[in-house]
This record gives sequence, structure tokens and C-alpha cells, in this order.
Amino acid sequence: MKTFDYVKADSPESAVVAGGRFIAGGTNLLDLMKLQIETPERLVDISRLDLARVEERADGGLTIGALVPNSDLAADARIIKDYPVLSRALLAGASGQLRNKASTGGNLLQRTRCYYFYDTAMPCNKRVPGSGCAAIGGFNRILAVLGTSDQCIATHPSDMAVAMRALDATIVTLKPDGDRRRIAIGDFYRLPGDTPHIETMIEPGELITHIDLPPPPAGTQLYRKVRDRASYAFALVSVAGIVAVENGRIASAALAFGGLAPMPWRDPAVEAALVGKTPSTAVFEAAADALLADARGFGSNDFKIPLTRRVLIACLRDLTGEAA
Ligand code: SF4
Repeated sequence: MKTFDYVKADSPESAVVAGGRFIAGGTNLLDLMKLQIETPERLVDISRLDLARVEERADGGLTIGALVPNSDLAADARIIKDYPVLSRALLAGASGQLRNKASTGGNLLQRTRCYYFYDTAMPCNKRVPGSGCAAIGGFNRILAVLGTSDQCIATHPSDMAVAMRALDATIVTLKPDGDRRRIAIGDFYRLPGDTPHIETMIEPGELITHIDLPPPPAGTQLYRKVRDRASYAFALVSVAGIVAVENGRIASAALAFGGLAPMPWRDPAVEAALVGKTPSTAVFEAAADALLADARGFGSNDFKIPLTRRVLIACLRDLTGEAA
């Protein structure tokens, strides 16, 4: 491993001016450093900052400190009661040991699990810009079918972020100049385009301090994850759904998807195909058509397209109470 400086921050303000890579749980970063995919000159340890609480907001929502461990957040009584989609997504991710260490902020920033990104003998535009993409034309079973570019077809691996996308979370940051930013999660992630190595709107030295959840949404919530084994596996496809039915019609719908795209995916056309309609198989199929209109497989991930259609329709049946 390459040598690096280690600094322990005692406040968010001191962390952002310390000039290094932040480390909290380290559940992804340490693996990347061992493989020399990430080689920071300086690590800034933020694990002891006072950012590990979940607090109620005046508007009825919650503020989640960036250092709340994933396991604590999943077990928080307010999350279980009012945001069950988030609790279930968290519990679908990683393993118990990893959830104990992984932080909420770090979970948002974890990097793709594309096999070739971790294999330094292979070309990868995300790891080495301009080197090529071994996954296009390679084994791409777990990779994306939406939002790809000819430079990168990686997926974002988080379950938690998919639920937060459906919940319209806001990410709160602190910059080295002292400015704070509030970034809607829908604006937080970037598509790969020609710069797949730039994954979020976070700027150098900018620290995630909190994640705000709006007041609890109306309706039924669900998180469903389809994967190659029952635990400790990333999603082939996942659905975070929040749907309210009133007077026999779909009054509101929020649907976000994991395992399909370089970011937690949400498409307004899917929700537009549902809202105002009487739940039925034809309506659910129209929503799936909207989601998958631009989907493109790359060989070994072609199966994700029909799989996603089936999973979405099954989720919509459960969310609306419409029998098959
Ligand atoms: Fe790298 Fe992206 Fe291609 Fe994977 S899909 S090899 S991360 S450029």
C-alpha cells in the first residue's frame, strides 16, 4: 500500500480544510486503497465527528447525520414506522458487520462494483480516464441498461440511495470555504457521459454532513431487491416504491430503481403512466414500457430488461393491492 498522512478531524469545519480524502467506516475506501485504485496522499478521519444522530425537523421530516451507521438507521423506530422503504433497503444491503461500520454519507458515495473497475490489469475509463471499457463486450451481468454511455456502463451499488431517491431526500454539505449546500438527491449523481470518473456533484474537499428526509409520504412503501443470492449480493434490479391509492385511483407514485443505471434511477414518465389511473395490469405494463423504452443490454445483462418488467409489475400489484 502507498503511504499516506492520517489526520483526525475534531469538527466538520476542521475536516473540510484538512485537505484530504474523508474516511468514516472505510468499508469501500480501504478496499480501493489496498488495490491502489484510490491512492490519497492524506486521510482525514471524520468518524468521531458529532454527526451520528437522527433528529426530527420542524416540518415533520428527519435530519440524518452523515455518520449514522447503516444498522442504526435501519433500526431507528421513526424510520421503521414512517419510512419503511428506507429501513428495508438498508437491511437489503451488504452484511450485518458492514452495516455496523458503513456510514450514511459513505453509503451515498460508494463506488461501483463493476468487476473490471477492481481489476487493475483491465482497461477502465472510470479508474483510468481514456483507457477504455472492458465491460462493454465483456462479462457485464451486473451492469447497467439505462443511463449508460459508450465510455461506461457501471451501476451504482447502493440500496439505501435508491430508497432515498424515492423519498426525495436532500443532501446537505459543507465546503472548505464554509458555504453549505443543499442538493436534491435527484441532482446529486451524474451520468457517465464522457467523464465516468466524475460520479457526483460533490466538489474536492466538500463534506456531506446530513441527509434530510421530507415529511413521511402518504401511501404504501416497499423495497424489493432481486439478486443472485439471498444475502450479501448487489442488486440485479431493485425497486423502491411509494404509492397511494385513493377512491380507486392512484393518487401519487414515487418509484426508484437500483441495479439498472449509474445512479439511483427515477423516471417521471413511469410515475406519469400511473397517477390518476385505476390500478390494472395494462396500466402497470404501460409504466414498465415507459421505464424501459430506452433500455439497452450489452450481452450478458440483456436479461435485466424483461426481469425489470416483471419485478416492477409485481411490485405495483403489491403496492396497489391489485391482484394478478
Ligand atoms: Fe470501468 Fe465503467 Fe467500463 Fe466498468 S463499465 S470497466 S467501471 S468504464
